[in-house]
Amino acid sequence: MSEDISVVVVGSCMTDLVSQAPRLPKAGETIHGHRFFIGFGGKGANQCVQAARLGAKTAMVCKKHSKRDHTSKTGGQVGRDVFGNDYIQNFKNNGISTAYVEQTENAATGAASIIVNDTGENAIVIVAGANMLLGQEELQRALTAIVNAKVLVCQLEINPDTSLQALRMARENHVKTIFNPAPAIVDLCSDFFKASDVFCCNESEAELLTGMSVTSVEDASQVGLELLNKGCGSVIVTLGPQGCVVCQPTNAAPKHIPTTTVTAADTTGAGDSFIGALAFYMAHYPTMPLEEMARRANFVAAVSVQTVGTQTSFPFQKDLPTELF
Ligand code: AMP
Repeated sequence: MSEDISVVVVGSCMTDLVSQAPRLPKAGETIHGHRFFIGFGGKGANQCVQAARLGAKTAMVCKKHSKRDHTSKTGGQVGRDVFGNDYIQNFKNNGISTAYVEQTENAATGAASIIVNDTGENAIVIVAGANMLLGQEELQRALTAIVNAKVLVCQLEINPDTSLQALRMARENHVKTIFNPAPAIVDLCSDFFKASDVFCCNESEAELLTGMSVTSVEDASQVGLELLNKGCGSVIVTLGPQGCVVCQPTNAAPKHIPTTTVTAADTTGAGDSFIGALAFYMAHYPTMPLEEMARRANFVAAVSVQTVGTQTSFPFQKDLPTELF
């Protein structure tokens, strides 16, 4: 039932094809790697999975590949793309509604080919594929879920026009919006700021959006204020092991929210864990101060960095201290 859904994510799903090798290959070179695995990724899906694992009823609005199955007696569309179908199963395993996971015959399910070397450096090629075909029609089909949600979350791994439209649909219906401008684009349309209740980015995205360098809490406070002036409700700039900075129009000064000191094993997806957690708190504790939500989201994301993997490292509510809920 779409009326029960508290968090809707309009965004990407991608299959991560990860090879671990001693070093990154040069152009034209073939080298032996020592480990290969397939993971579930895409910023949108990652954020949705984290919100769901904390207990939010979630729906994902995204697009994957499907081929017409000519052997189907009903003549209906049956997905044959193993990546797309596996992803549907992954959503279901995480309790996420797949009612708005759309299918297309015209593009492959998004894929990220990732090579990671022994020092943790990587080279990545992303083919957004079906994600780029998510548009107006799919948003209309998900309209009931979007307008009845508590929180809508968008990023930039789909067509930016689709993200902006989804944010506007939500705002017009008094649904709170979280916008994560990732991957960042230099000439981001100013309407994105006005459509964001919470504009949440990391240091490098903040740098690209403002042209200011961000290397400290002070820098993050300054860029946060700069972004706030562009018309968003609030701004959060995440700072990896330093936590985040929260800027709100009601507070004179930006607030630094430090995080727990942990030994990081893999920080991939930490930002998505943070945003998924934030979406959960905004939907389920709407009167909680944003700074407290950020403190708790820091904690959740800090747990995620202590294990290797992206979604595989995202904690469930049962694994976290009860005082977070
Ligand atoms: P980032 O996208 O790197 O800014 O990380 C997003 C969030 O994940 C941060 O705001 C922290 O809450 C958490 N985080 C990332 N890296 C670390 C780390 N090394 N130690 C603890 N928390 C981290």
